[in-house]
Amino acid sequence: MRRTHATVAIVGGGLVGSSLALALDRAGIGSVLIEAAPPRADAPPHEERNLALARATANGLRAIGVWPLLAGEAQPIRSIRVSRAGAFGSTHLRAHEAGLDALGWTVPARALGAALEQALAAATRVERRLSARVVGIGPATVGHTLRVETRAGTEQLDAALLVGADGSASGVRAMLGIGMQAHDYRQSLIVGQVRCARPLDGCAHERLTDAGPVALLPLRDDRAGLVLSVAADQVDAVMALDESDYLACAQARLGWHAGRLLAAAPRQAWPIRRVLSDALTAPRAVLVGNAAQTVHPIGAQGFNLGLRDALTLAESLTSAADPGDPGLLAHYAARRAPDREGVLRMTHTLATLGCAPLPALLPTLALLVIDALPPLRKHLLRYGMGWRAAPPRAALEALP
Ligand SMILES: Cc1cc2nc3c(=O)[nH]c(=O)nc-3n(C[C@H](O)[C@H](O)[C@H](O)COP(=O)(O)OP(=O)(O)OC[C@H]3O[C@@H](n4cnc5c(N)ncnc54)[C@H](O)[C@@H]3O)c2cc1C
Repeated sequence: MRRTHATVAIVGGGLVGSSLALALDRAGIGSVLIEAAPPRADAPPHEERNLALARATANGLRAIGVWPLLAGEAQPIRSIRVSRAGAFGSTHLRAHEAGLDALGWTVPARALGAALEQALAAATRVERRLSARVVGIGPATVGHTLRVETRAGTEQLDAALLVGADGSASGVRAMLGIGMQAHDYRQSLIVGQVRCARPLDGCAHERLTDAGPVALLPLRDDRAGLVLSVAADQVDAVMALDESDYLACAQARLGWHAGRLLAAAPRQAWPIRRVLSDALTAPRAVLVGNAAQTVHPIGAQGFNLGLRDALTLAESLTSAADPGDPGLLAHYAARRAPDREGVLRMTHTLATLGCAPLPALLPTLALLVIDALPPLRKHLLRYGMGWRAAPPRAALEALP
C-alpha cells in the first residue's frame, strides 16, 4: 500500500474544493485534492445549471486566477426584480443605486467548472487524485490518515489538516462523527436555458408563487437560465412535457415582466434538500461548502457561501505554523457562523414565502416596504453582493 503525506488534504474536487485548492496554492500552501469523479474529459457533459455569482464571488475568483478564464462567458446582473404572483407590488434593486456596474454575474456552471479545471492544471502546489475515493479516516501521529481508493490501488495519506468538501452527503462529516440536520423541501428545481423574445438587459427576475419560486437569470446573447421549482410529485410530469407545453407552463408561473419565452434547451431536475452540519470543525478537520451547509438554491447562495468558506479558510491558514491548530480552527468557525446563519435564514424564508399559501397581503407588504426604504434597499444590495459579517479579504473591493 502506498503511503504519502500532505499538509492539507481536501476531499471533494467540486466547485468549492477546487476553489480552496487554488486559494491555498496562491497562499503558497500545498494540498492534495481528492475527487471521486473521473477526469473531465472522461465525464459526460450533464450539467445544465446556470449560476448567479455575487460581486464578492467574482472578486474572490479573480484573486485565485479563475475570473479571467471565465469572464468571456459571464453576463452582468445589473438589477434584480422580485415579485409575487397574485400580489400587488414588486421590488427592483439596481446596481447603479450602489454606484456599481453590476450586482453580480451569471455563468453556465459548466463554464465555471472548466475555468477551475484550467486554473488547477496550471497550479504548482496542488496534487490531484482523480477517480479516487476516500473510504476511511483514522488517527495519524499528527492529524488524520485517509484511506484513498484509486485506480492504481489503495493509498494511505497522512494529513495535518483534513478538509471535507465532499458535498451534501459528506462521507467525511459522517466519518468524523459530526451530525447533521436535513430538511426535505419536497421540491425539485428544473433548470435549463431558454431564449427570450426581448433582451433582459441584465435584469434577473425572481417570482414567488404558491407552487414555489421561479427565476430567470440573464445570460449572454438572447439566452437566459430558467429555474422552475416543482412539487416532488409533479416533477416527472413536467420533465415529460414537450417544449411548447413546458414553455407555456414556465410562462404561466413567471408572468410577463420578462417578456415571452421562445425556446427551451435540454432541462434537468435537481431535488432540493437543506442539510446543515452540526459543527464546522472537528480536531484537525474542517467542513466547507455543501458539506458544511446545503441551502435552498432560491437565493442563488450555495456556491457564493461555499467560496467564502474556502477563501476565509485559506486566509486563516496563510502563515499559520500549524494548519490544524485548535485556536485557528475555532476562530475560523466563529468567523463563518454569522454569514452561514444569515444565508440559511434568508434562503429558508424566501423558499417558505414562495411555497406557503400565505395571504397575498404579507408578501405584497414586504415587497412594498423594501421598495420604499432606501436604507433597507442599500442593506439588501450589499447583502446580495456577498458582503456580510467578516468577509474574506479576497472578496473585498471599495465597498459601496
Ligand atoms: C439547481 C441549483 C441551482 C443552483 N444555483 C446556484 C447559484 O445560482 N449560485 C450559487 O452560488 N449556488 C447555486 N447552487 C448551489 C451550488 O451549486 C452548490 O452550493 C455548490 O456547487 C456546492 O459545491 P461543493 O463543491 O461544496 O459540493 P459538490 O458540488 O457536491 O462537490 C462535492 C464533490 O465531492 C466529491 N466526493 C464526494 N464524496 C467523495 C469521496 N468520498 N472521495 C472523493 N470525492 C468525493 C464529489 O464527486 C463531488 O465532486 C445551485 C444548486 C442547485 C442544485
